[in-house]
Amino acid sequence: MLHQFFGGVRPAEHKDLTEQTPALPLAQAPAQVVIPMSMHTDDACTPVVAEGDEVRVGQLIGESNGLGAPIHASVSGKVLAVEPRPYGGGGMMLSVVIDNDFQDAPCPEQKHRGNSAGLTGAEIISIVKEAGVTGMGGAGFPTHVKLSGAVGKVDTLIINGAECEPYITSDHRLMLERGDTVVGGARLLAKAVGAKGAVIAVETNKPDAIENIRSQAGGEGDIRVQPLRTRYPQGAEKQLIQMLTGRQVPSGKLPVDVNCLVCSVATAAAVWEAVVEGKALTRRRVTVTGAALVQPLNMIAPIGTPVSWLIKMAGGFQMEPDRVLLGGPMMGTPVYDLDVPIMKSTNCVLCLTPDEIGKQDPAQACIRCGKCVEVCPMKLTPLFMRMNAGKCRWEETEALHVMDCIECGCCNYICPARLPLVQTFRAAKFAIREKNARAKERDAQVQEVGEKEVTVE
Ligand code: SF4
Ligand code: SF4
Repeated sequence: MLHQFFGGVRPAEHKDLTEQTPALPLAQAPAQVVIPMSMHTDDACTPVVAEGDEVRVGQLIGESNGLGAPIHASVSGKVLAVEPRPYGGGGMMLSVVIDNDFQDAPCPEQKHRGNSAGLTGAEIISIVKEAGVTGMGGAGFPTHVKLSGAVGKVDTLIINGAECEPYITSDHRLMLERGDTVVGGARLLAKAVGAKGAVIAVETNKPDAIENIRSQAGGEGDIRVQPLRTRYPQGAEKQLIQMLTGRQVPSGKLPVDVNCLVCSVATAAAVWEAVVEGKALTRRRVTVTGAALVQPLNMIAPIGTPVSWLIKMAGGFQMEPDRVLLGGPMMGTPVYDLDVPIMKSTNCVLCLTPDEIGKQDPAQACIRCGKCVEVCPMKLTPLFMRMNAGKCRWEETEALHVMDCIECGCCNYICPARLPLVQTFRAAKFAIREKNARAKERDAQVQEVGEKEVTVE
């Protein structure tokens, strides 16, 4: 039985621009890729190559630190530089710049394993780690960390093919074109955490994908496909769990705390490629779309390809875009430098015309209509959070649970005053994290001084 989640909106889909275009490798590879050393949560990787080194596709170029995931070369060629470069996360990031030799020479360590049936769950997790697989949308959480924490605790493994955000169709095309890797990856993920099977959730606006995944799953009964009526942000982890199981992930807790694990269809496919084909995560499917482009397309591009190159492959601009986003219109982040590279988590490059964005009246004062509260899927109070965050009252903002905000953008979408609510909450979350980190550091120092004093006595 399906349950419901609170709030949500139904924005226009605009998926027709690309849903019929197969995802093909780039017609022309980029002459250079810029691979940031951080494409995941936690610490950045340490580069293990230097200027002048020859590299091959799939070769390790960044060793993970902390809970990170390693990073591999996405083209073969010569390392031109290891230096900070602008990246999609904002600001600069230490990056490995590779001049492409257009040979696509694979790293010899990448070997097709063929039959993976004999692998244990621990072996699967170790391969996923070595291949640098991370969540392929959102924050890019390293998949091996997610899996390690879920072993033996999961009764519901959810493979997320909802793709509820407007414009984006890369997961749709993946489910149509390589449904075998999605289903195969789901089985590997289930084995890795000791789950009996998986449910693959797909919105009903993708009937061909539902049909294909069902046929790929066959009659073994371990993989179930669950169609979902379209509603945004149904593909968000907590909302998907609520829909499929009726369980609510408490504030500050993880899906595994309610015996669930959610991975996207793209992550499942990347796991399959890592385990069966022995391939590190070096490429991804990207929807390059928006009415500003001559030919919106789905593409398979090396990680590190500049956004400007993908725009060129989509025929360039037919009109000046009002804005370019990495991601969809609801959760995407604006790109101010078109030479920033795509990363492991980049599922869409969206080039919006002024018409698509609509009339841009300046923001007005809040009229307290309460619509933002009605649509917030996390049951937050965006208007009060904004009032406090706007005055840098961080304790009050935190007490209103701003840290639970999933940045879905529903409040922005509905707000008649056109207030930049989600941007305010993003900044507030950053400020609160910094404040808490400083307080923790101070506490540690005080404790250290205290311990020294006790020793002296
Ligand atoms: S939707 Fe906008 S105008 Fe209405 S209460 Fe929320 S912040 Fe205020
Ligand atoms: S407050 Fe956060 S979670 Fe709630 S609607 Fe706005 S962006 Fe989404």
